[in-house]
Amino acid sequence: MNIPVIGVLALQGDVREHLIALAAADAVARPVRRPEELAEVDGLVLPGGESTTISKLAILFGVMEPLRARVQDGMPVYGTCAGMIMLADKILDPRSGQETIGGIDMIVRRNAFGRQNESFEAAVDVRGIPGDPVEGVFIRAPWVESVGAAAEVLAEHDGHIVAVRQGNALATSFHPELTGDHRVHSLFVDMVRANGTSESL
Ligand code: GLN
Repeated sequence: MNIPVIGVLALQGDVREHLIALAAADAVARPVRRPEELAEVDGLVLPGGESTTISKLAILFGVMEPLRARVQDGMPVYGTCAGMIMLADKILDPRSGQETIGGIDMIVRRNAFGRQNESFEAAVDVRGIPGDPVEGVFIRAPWVESVGAAAEVLAEHDGHIVAVRQGNALATSFHPELTGDHRVHSLFVDMVRANGTSESL
């Protein structure tokens, strides 16, 4: 079986942790900043960070439209926290000039769980991940206010949606790359493998 090549959008945020988690989940992982680099990956992770900054930098680097095109084309994509916001078709409370890539029919609320000093950890049961619950690290995390019919809710915390999948797009409010538990990354690597790597096309 071919080893998938998975990019991590490296404009801002916790890129390194995702590269490490993807490598641990048996993918070849590399940072992606430019459209040429995006064209070479089989799947992409959108890291946590600050979604307004990521949005502005993506536009500045000329990668926003190519990102939208590849996501619409079905490239597997996984967004954590700010990355989840980037995958939302709609933000409830966007900052001015803030855009998203879209791809998941959901409405997200930024900083919904509180600000930095209110960050927390909680055990989260994620559909499709066998065994113990995942340790969810929530840092100024969004939650999902509502999803459309095509989106599947994979996890909730305190009655709020915190993990969603729609086709080849996966999003979590929390940060599995910070825990050393690579099961969510493995789920994503499996999605990329199932979609086919460029060598096998
Ligand atoms: N609150 C941040 C935002 O709105 C997300 C925080 C995070 O990614 N840890 O983009």
